[in-house]
Amino acid sequence: MPETPDQKPAPEPAKALKSTLNLPQTAFAMKANLPVNEPIRLESWQKQDLYAQIRRASAGRPKYVLHDGPPYANGAIHLGHALNKCIKDFVVKTKTMAGFDAPYVPGWDCHGLPIEIKVDEQLGRKKLEMDPIAVRRACREYAQKYVDLQRSQFERIGVFGRWNDPYLTMSFKYEAAIAETFYDFFEKGFVYKGLKPVYWCIHDRTALAEAEVEYEQHTSPSVYVRYKLTSDPGAIAPELGAPSSPTASSSAKVGNEASQVYTIIWTTTPWTLPASLAVAFNPDLDYVALKCNESGCPTSGTSDVGSGAGTIYIVLADLAKQTAEACKLDATEIARFKGSALEHSTFQHPFLDRQVLGVVAPYVTAEQGTGAVHTAPAHGVDDFYTGKRYNLPEVQYVDNAGRHRHTAQHGGHTPQPYEDQTVFKSNPTIIDVLREKGALLSATEFQHSYPHCWRCHNPVIVRATEQWFIRMKTRMPTESENNCHPERSGEAAESKDLRSDLSGTNTETFRDRALDEIKKVKWDPAWGEERISNMIATRPDWCISRQRIWGVPIAVFLCEKCGTPLNDKAINKSIVELFHKEGADAWYIHEAPALLPKSTKCPCGHEEFRKEMDILDVWFESGASWHAVLEQEPDELRYPADLYTEGGDQHRGWFHSSLLCSVGMRGIAPYKMVATSGWTLDEQGRAFSKSLGNGVDPVDIAKRLGGEIVRLWVASVDFREDVAASENLMQRVSDNYRKLRNTLRFLLGNLHDFDPATNAVADFSKLEPLDQYILARLAEVTTKILKAYEEFEFHRAYHALNEFTNTDLSALYLDVLKDRLYTFAPNHPARRSAQTALWRIAEVLTRLIAPILSFTADEVWALLPKIEGRELSVHLALFPSISNIALGDTTEIEADWKHLLAIRALVLWTLETRRAAKAIGKSLEATVTITLVRGKEPALESVLQKYGSALPELFNVSVVDVNFGEAETIDAEASSDLKCERCWRYTSDVGQEAKYPTVCLRCAEALAAINFAPYSA
Ligand SMILES: [Zn+2]
Ligand SMILES: [Zn+2]
Ligand SMILES: [Zn+2]
Repeated sequence: MPETPDQKPAPEPAKALKSTLNLPQTAFAMKANLPVNEPIRLESWQKQDLYAQIRRASAGRPKYVLHDGPPYANGAIHLGHALNKCIKDFVVKTKTMAGFDAPYVPGWDCHGLPIEIKVDEQLGRKKLEMDPIAVRRACREYAQKYVDLQRSQFERIGVFGRWNDPYLTMSFKYEAAIAETFYDFFEKGFVYKGLKPVYWCIHDRTALAEAEVEYEQHTSPSVYVRYKLTSDPGAIAPELGAPSSPTASSSAKVGNEASQVYTIIWTTTPWTLPASLAVAFNPDLDYVALKCNESGCPTSGTSDVGSGAGTIYIVLADLAKQTAEACKLDATEIARFKGSALEHSTFQHPFLDRQVLGVVAPYVTAEQGTGAVHTAPAHGVDDFYTGKRYNLPEVQYVDNAGRHRHTAQHGGHTPQPYEDQTVFKSNPTIIDVLREKGALLSATEFQHSYPHCWRCHNPVIVRATEQWFIRMKTRMPTESENNCHPERSGEAAESKDLRSDLSGTNTETFRDRALDEIKKVKWDPAWGEERISNMIATRPDWCISRQRIWGVPIAVFLCEKCGTPLNDKAINKSIVELFHKEGADAWYIHEAPALLPKSTKCPCGHEEFRKEMDILDVWFESGASWHAVLEQEPDELRYPADLYTEGGDQHRGWFHSSLLCSVGMRGIAPYKMVATSGWTLDEQGRAFSKSLGNGVDPVDIAKRLGGEIVRLWVASVDFREDVAASENLMQRVSDNYRKLRNTLRFLLGNLHDFDPATNAVADFSKLEPLDQYILARLAEVTTKILKAYEEFEFHRAYHALNEFTNTDLSALYLDVLKDRLYTFAPNHPARRSAQTALWRIAEVLTRLIAPILSFTADEVWALLPKIEGRELSVHLALFPSISNIALGDTTEIEADWKHLLAIRALVLWTLETRRAAKAIGKSLEATVTITLVRGKEPALESVLQKYGSALPELFNVSVVDVNFGEAETIDAEASSDLKCERCWRYTSDVGQEAKYPTVCLRCAEALAAINFAPYSA
């Protein structure tokens, strides 16, 4: 960075001369002291309600609506939040300054399990005695506390928005909008209630969405269990025929009185065996019957299994060897047949009084196990559908805490030993029962990837429960049936009518439409499109119910007699209105009869109803935000939104549920563009964790280094990728900030006596060549930065800005300009030319950095030379227009300066070499001689001639001679001239002006211009 000349003690005249230099003056401090000054600026923004001022200034411009994805109101903000909110802030601010009306209404996700769990922990056993209203109140207070905390933390890092009126999913109007969205699905026939296997957390006692399940390593028991065949073995393969048949025994030496036939199943969830209703085989794969040899098949040593000689086991051919090894069977294959032969066979349940059906299913593979798959429809997704195909009973004896209940009804007369045990704890008990019954062939342990609850990290189970679902196969309503959004209804109606004409009915499903809408959205990065498409294409029906309290109820009345849900538009509407007035608490306060019109009747004739007490999935709530927020304020906001931007994991979260809610209710996607960011990681690519101690806390960084440093860090990374953060990186960003600040300080410091109205050089062609050149560069870099902003490539803007300030300004322009700025007469046209360039640079840079360095830009703004009609804050201003920066054609200037800068590099190298050789001291002591060969390089020759007078300044030397000779050379030698006491150049004209005997003619001129008193040497 430029510095003022050294101040050495000097004799009187020299000291007086020094006072005549135009040294920089500014109130813009070198030391930013951001931790102290940012909160002060923040307070003044709040006092003048800057956000409202921006809104007013933007009125009437084209809209750009970024719709905020609501963070969860639980805990302080972390670096991922800061990244997310800063990106959004950059988008909103760059759009605003690009001339859009870009409101930003931040939101919070307030309902749901994490808060309810925290409140559970706080209330402890007390919660059990509290009524739901009191629990909900405690949850609301908890959420509000963190909304307030996070709001102050987001504001602290300079994020602008409607913080005094955000959207909260727990506000009454939002709760009403959620109910309204649900009823829309309900009334149009998307919703059904059914028994379904769902992921179930027994710790949290709730169903989990697919998005709430994470795979982690888990150790399970690994057991091989034999199921005794009770149907005719001969029906499976003749070789297994009844021992009483003489033909069978003679043909295949199989039959003997002791022969018993089994199949072997393998499971890692012994606790599901009480629910075992079938054994599944692959119909198309080969199975073998293995007969135990005389040496026997050692087993777990119970009397019943015995040595097992002659016992026959049926397993998949491809898994026979490994099953025999696992179960220590010494056996010989005696028959081979397709799995289809086992369909409708029957087996004895290993320990319950129950027949188990042989079924076939294509998902049985030869990958692991035995090829005979124990099937418990209540505890597996595949199992459930197999059960449906074979009409197996739908039973559920595991309660919502995961305890075995009513086991006596389960095939026995007395409760089983595992009664009341939770499923995972019951595994050893059940293994003991198996061993005792002689059904256990092997029991070991098995490490595998197993689904866990994303909240409590306990392993989850699959459990068939009554749940509410949105059916993905629902036929989309036609235009006449649907109150589609007006914006696209014309276009949609056209294509839909055509389809109806052709087929007579509309066959497009909810899933089809959602997939179609994905294609109309711009996904950034592009892989997002395939990701969300695959998820939508393969997802099961959406389970929208949760068995919890803190949320919005599925406000449906069920007939007390037949259980049929009441679906009456007028009643539904009255509940929405009620929620508007009293919030969703109303559902817990009022009894059903008080909420229903007197004459309400179920189609079955019954008149009593109960309220459904399940609440909605929180993803449904946040997924309805486009309706609860954007559609509620059509003047301020807009649906569909221009942009949703969140972390890349939201393809299965908020982007996903928002798409489904919007397509279901309005038939279109809620967004035109979706941009995703990566994870925040440490420099080694590891996730932040307490144990590693590698965390970077944005609140702490703001406190120690400044909110600007957090913002500048966000700008420095390509947010589409995973991004690295560490104390070290933050310090580096802080250093960059300091450099940038010094540049800004130099600009301001040299504009202290510059009034644009009277001092600016209006005619671009009248500017000094170097000043023209730097403005041409400024125009170039401005174009680059504005393009980067338009594409949300903030890191490109950051790097372009850094390069310009470091390379073009610090290392070149500002460095060589000092002589002209400090030593020329204040009003000298060359100095005013330089100031004009500096002023334009300052004006442009301040605007360009404002979206990122929002505090600093506003600080600079207030110190820029005053001009008529200037906005009070840079945040009310627009980006600069290129045509105001470099007027006229600059291609020739830029081409010329390419040559000059190349020569400069050679000259600087020569000076450095001569200095090292002690031939010269400071650059200003040197006379540089450039020797050219006439006609050899005409372009260079003409450029050096054209800019001859600008060369000493460009090289920062006193004299530059351009000669012609035999060979091209550059030389530098110590000047034999005298040193000017004022500007320190060595020139031949020092002392020529008698009034000022110790200075050069240029300085004499400057002194005369300010009426400096003559002196003697
Ligand atoms: Zn859990
Ligand atoms: Zn009924
Ligand atoms: Zn001088």
